[in-house]
Amino acid sequence: MFAKPSIDQFQELRQHMVEAQLKDRGIQNTAVLSAMTTVPRHLFVSENLHKQAYSDGPLPIGHGQTISQPFIVAYMSQIIDIRTGQRVLEIGTGSGYQAAILAELTDHVYTIEIVPPLAQSASKRLQNLGYRKINTKQDDGYYGWPEAAPFDAIVVTAATEFIPPPLIKQLKEGGKMIIPVGSPFSIQHLILVTKSRGKINTRNLMPVRFVPFRRSK
Ligand code: SAH
Repeated sequence: MFAKPSIDQFQELRQHMVEAQLKDRGIQNTAVLSAMTTVPRHLFVSENLHKQAYSDGPLPIGHGQTISQPFIVAYMSQIIDIRTGQRVLEIGTGSGYQAAILAELTDHVYTIEIVPPLAQSASKRLQNLGYRKINTKQDDGYYGWPEAAPFDAIVVTAATEFIPPPLIKQLKEGGKMIIPVGSPFSIQHLILVTKSRGKINTRNLMPVRFVPFRRSK
């Protein structure tokens, strides 16, 4: 019989994840590393997956969705380079893990989830864990969050076939958006979108695999 890992064991697993999966692969931003060391990733998956929560891959969170691999969460958080006080929008709350990481970086986090039960459970989980400042809503993230725009950064965690125009519009001048683009059944690329002097620039960062971006009917 296995003993349940204690809180300390999770801390150790988390520290190991940060060293082996993040630092060794080029994540250097100290605020991001500290966030990844702090947020209890195991509490964002079901109890039977707690022991796998710090492994090097995505994990199921129900409703056919997944929580991204730790490296991808850290990479996306690092590349948008947000500072305290800046506003960030996430599309695809899922478990709420990426939103919690973002909340360690700034007090102004907005996150949208299209699947109602996931939106509800993530919102409750974030409340219970003390992330009371995160603004959550259940909606189709294609339209962004116009009332809270413009954003310094936008993080999209589901793969779109094209970049939703409302999200480009809601990006601040000088802002950064990170978004997986491509068809659900073929190769997708993580794209960095920047807006400078009203002009949109895109940079292809790496091939990735995300769950598909859905649309409300
Ligand atoms: N960031 C999440 C990962 C979730 S996976 C985490 O840290 O756990 C991607 C999520 O995007 C899924 O929960 C999916 O339901 C959601 N999603 C897909 N299309 C969406 C849309 N149009 N608007 C909002 N959420 C969407």
